[in-house]
Amino acid sequence: MRLLLSKRNIAFKLAGLAFAALLVGWFIDLALELLLGCTIALVWWQYKHLFMLDKWLWRDRKLSPPAGEGSWQQVFDGIYYRQRKDRKKNKELRNLIRQFRDGAEALPDAIVVLSQEWSIVWCNKLAQQLAGLRWPLDENQRIDNLIRNPEFLQFLHARQFEQCLELPSPLTESLTLEYRILQHGENQYLLIIRDITQLKQLEQIRKDFVANVSHELRTPLTVLQGYLEVMDAENLPQPAIWQKAHSVMLDQTKRMDSLVQQLLTLSRIEASAKIQFDDVVDVPAMLSLLEQEAQSLNRDKHHNISFQIDPELRVSGITEELRSAFSNLVTNAIKYTPDGGVIEVSWQRDHNKAVFTVSDNGEGIAPQHVKRLTERFYRVDQARARNTGGTGLGLAIVKHVLTRHQCRLMIFSEPKRGSTFSFALPPELVIGATRAVQPRLSKKKLMAKS
Ligand code: ADP
Repeated sequence: MRLLLSKRNIAFKLAGLAFAALLVGWFIDLALELLLGCTIALVWWQYKHLFMLDKWLWRDRKLSPPAGEGSWQQVFDGIYYRQRKDRKKNKELRNLIRQFRDGAEALPDAIVVLSQEWSIVWCNKLAQQLAGLRWPLDENQRIDNLIRNPEFLQFLHARQFEQCLELPSPLTESLTLEYRILQHGENQYLLIIRDITQLKQLEQIRKDFVANVSHELRTPLTVLQGYLEVMDAENLPQPAIWQKAHSVMLDQTKRMDSLVQQLLTLSRIEASAKIQFDDVVDVPAMLSLLEQEAQSLNRDKHHNISFQIDPELRVSGITEELRSAFSNLVTNAIKYTPDGGVIEVSWQRDHNKAVFTVSDNGEGIAPQHVKRLTERFYRVDQARARNTGGTGLGLAIVKHVLTRHQCRLMIFSEPKRGSTFSFALPPELVIGATRAVQPRLSKKKLMAKS
């Protein structure tokens, strides 16, 4: 049981002790000596406990309190109780800080906790990777001494934290970082650094895309508008001029139509995120139809087109997408090969893969263009491609389709000698077994993977 020490209690005890000493001393006729002796014993007893307390607090490594006597036991127990409470509180605090830090480490952004004077209180690992801070080496260093960019210093000292700042990373120029500062607690700040490189690139792609589409649509529209402006009910053109105008306008509308169709195909492919290869694609039948279409496209070009199709080689895939990929590659070979060329189309099994190859002996493509061919709207020769009705989206569609079918477009090309476009669908997508035939990839000159 805990007895409360009070002044009255202590006074009673001291008075009782003095009275007892005086009484006993009076009987033996040594009253004052006994009182002095008792006082010395009491002082010694107090010092003995004081010494025990000092030893326990400062020198002993033991957690449990020493065994004291009387009211000292209460003092020892009280201190012990407080210490245990403090230790528990400290542990809770440490856990809280650890949880906060773990949480901050799990964030996808770099976090730096700053004091009011801009010195670093703490930073997570991402801050070390993105901004080059070193932890714990940079603890208490001022952030404006470590990130020396003048724009950052201006941003920091302007204290207009509703805005954020975009800057190249101090470590890698090609990365763009976004800096944001938030008030944190009463006198701390949170500096949040985010890698927005991909976001910026996407924004740029979107801007380029809109600019390209507008440009592509404006050109045929301008032609149509030009003709329509000079024609009205009172001002009809001569039959010969009308015939020419009609054919040009028809070409331009076809061009716009094919651009819109290609854009729709591209956006459909991009939008359908889930890939289910439920379809068994009868590629031989598909290619036999494509052969007929190719022959009708070939009427003016007089190419020698040959198809070598493995009649049993079918695959799992998305029928419409594969049709679009096959058709784009064959149509390109016909379009971009000068009249009377030789075009070979092959669909064969190779090491359990299904390999599609289109080779031509046309103009070929210079190496600097090859790696960019699958970019949207990229054309080797803008004017020539437009004359052939090209939209610049065909190979971008092929690339997307092939990525979704787990393979890549390979382009082998040499200027003035011709090009070979090919891809190999992986064994997982190949159905049915036939004898293995090596595909004929004769042009090994230049290779690019797109
Ligand atoms: P387009 O609709 O303009 O044909 P593509 O994306 O299909 O767009 O092709 C991109 C560019 O690649 C074409 O403009 C053309 O310059 C080039 N190209 C594609 N196929 C061939 C080929 N077989 N021979 C030469 N150049 C080609």
